[in-house]
Parts: sequence; C-alpha cells; structure tokens
Amino acid sequence: MTAQIIDGKAFAATLREKIAQHISRLKQDHGVTPGLAVVLVGEDPASQVYVRSKGKQTVEVGMNSYEHKLPADTTEAGLLALIHQLNTDPAVHGILVQLPLPAHLDEALVINAIDPTKDVDGFHISNVGLLATGQKAMVPCTPLGCLMMLREYCGSLSGLNAVVIGRSNIVGKPMAQLLLRDSCTVTVVHSRTRNLPEIVSSADIVVAAVGRPLFVPGEWIKPGATVIDVGINRIEQGDGTTRLVGDVDYDTAKEVAGAITPVPGGVGPMTIACLLANTVTACCRTHSLSEPNGLTA
Ligand code: NDP
Repeated sequence: MTAQIIDGKAFAATLREKIAQHISRLKQDHGVTPGLAVVLVGEDPASQVYVRSKGKQTVEVGMNSYEHKLPADTTEAGLLALIHQLNTDPAVHGILVQLPLPAHLDEALVINAIDPTKDVDGFHISNVGLLATGQKAMVPCTPLGCLMMLREYCGSLSGLNAVVIGRSNIVGKPMAQLLLRDSCTVTVVHSRTRNLPEIVSSADIVVAAVGRPLFVPGEWIKPGATVIDVGINRIEQGDGTTRLVGDVDYDTAKEVAGAITPVPGGVGPMTIACLLANTVTACCRTHSLSEPNGLTA
C-alpha cells in the first residue's frame, strides 16, 4: 500500500481563498476589515521569517497587518503596555506575540495579558479552559489545521482511535482536546510512556508532535492509518547541507499508512492559514456577525 499524500500546501491555499472571500464580504456588507497585530521581541532569525510570512499572507487575503518589532531588551512593563494598547484598539481583532520571548520576559504573564477574544494563537488560559470544557474558544492554529485535514481525509472521526505523540501546551494537549471533541478515543503519549510502539500501532489516527527527527518508523503504523506529522526538524546530510524532516519516517510510513502529511508541505502551511482563519473568526465574534463555516473547530 502507498499512502495518499495529504497536500497541506494545496489545502492551505484553498482555505486562504475561502478566507479572502469572507473578508471581501465583511468589507462590502459591514464595512469591517479584520486586523492582525503581530508582536516580535528581539531578533531571533526563525521568528523574523515567521513574522514576515504572517504579515505577507495577512495582507494577501485582504486584512490589515500591524507589525510591532521591539528590541530584545524591551521590559515586561513596556511589552504589557503595548498589549494593553492593542487590546483596546478597535482596528485590531487578533493579537499574536511571537514565541519564544527573550528569557527575561514571563511568557505566561504576557500571553494572559492579551484580551482572550483577540488571542488568535489560542494560548490564553481562558481559551485553554473553554476548549477543554467544549465551549466556543479561540483554537490554537497548528492543532486546528491538523483537525481540518483529518476531517477532510477521514470524514467523521467519531469512534476512531487517535494517538497524539507529545503533550505540549501548543500542540499535543489542544490536539487531544479537539480529537476528543470529535468523539475519537484519544491516547496521549510522551517521553515517560511505556510500550509506545504498541500504543501507536493501535491508532487509526497518529498525530506526531515530538520534535525528534524520524522518530516514528513505518513499522509502528497500523496499515491504513492516517498520519499527521507536526514535527519540523533540520538534519545534516552527508554532504554538509541540511534538510527538513518530520517526526515520522516518511519513507517507511507512507508504505503502510492510508494517508500521510509530508514535511515540508503538510502541517506547516496550514498553521499560518489557520491564524488568518482565527483572525476572521475573532472579527466576526467581536462584531456579532455570523461566522463562516469551516474556519474553526
Ligand atoms: P515540545 O518540545 O514542547 O514537546 C514535545 C513533546 O514530545 C513532549 O510532550 C515530550 O514529552 C514528547 N517527547 C519527547 N521525546 C519523546 C520520546 N522519546 N517519546 C515520546 N514522547 C517524547 O514540542 P512542540 O509540541 O512545541 O513541537 C513538536 C514538534 O512540532 C517540533 O518539531 C516543532 O518544531 C513542531 N511544530 C510545528 C509546527 C508547525 O506549524 N508545523 C508548530 C509547532 C510545533 P515530555 O512532555 O514527557 O517531555
């Protein structure tokens, strides 16, 4: 068996198209333009790339993009003052503080200072609680993108065995909550789990968010399972160059799985598309307008 390839790039392009159409309706019918503010503290090169890409895609779908680049030695009080200003700015519907923050800044304090209705990353403690209790939340972008692809490829997820590898607050835990909400039987495994291969091999759905290159071999995968690889790892090749690989050994897993996301081109493109989707959702909720179908969980 060779797996169907889940093309995250194409999926994200279709989602962005849908978002752009909805934004043009929001402008035309209600005179509202969604706005996304991205805050970057310091000069971490990877974060700079992400922020540039987010800003570009925000504008491409027709939203307003507000970038705030602060020096690495910004004080906590200075950052909190900016967040307060964005919280009260009616042109800003979504606020994203790019992580990681420099070590002297308290990430939890900063994230929890964001107005939860503008928390398009879904990391605010209120949104975490809303998601966990099955209420209307802002849903973290990466798991939201994974869920959208799973629904598309599996149809109903009800009753399926799902194994999430990793229990981080940004991927593993919210992913498990979303799968539970869709009535999967969910197992979360982590670095202390015993008999991990056996648990993974019972899964109809595997979501790997480990941060270890090629961690999941094809022999752990149940034939026909759907495999979502969240990992982004850069590995050295023999010739001195590097390449990106996921947490799943794609070459062996694709021979067993029913469907699988590649790295790159799988989950990655969906994450930014879901950030845009969350900003539209936040804008609709702020203005008490109906939310478009298919943009959230
Ligand atoms: P974290 O490092 O926060 O979490 C990794 C998780 O994997 C932890 O729960 C850890 O367990 C678990 N783990 C580590 N080693 C093992 C092991 N040997 N066996 C079982 N479980 C293990 O990572 P993130 O969740 O933030 O990210 C995971 C991956 O996803 C990374 O490669 C990251 O780059 C990528 N990523 C990709 C995104 C995208 O847009 N595509 C977005 C976000 C992340 P424990 O808790 O016990 O330590």
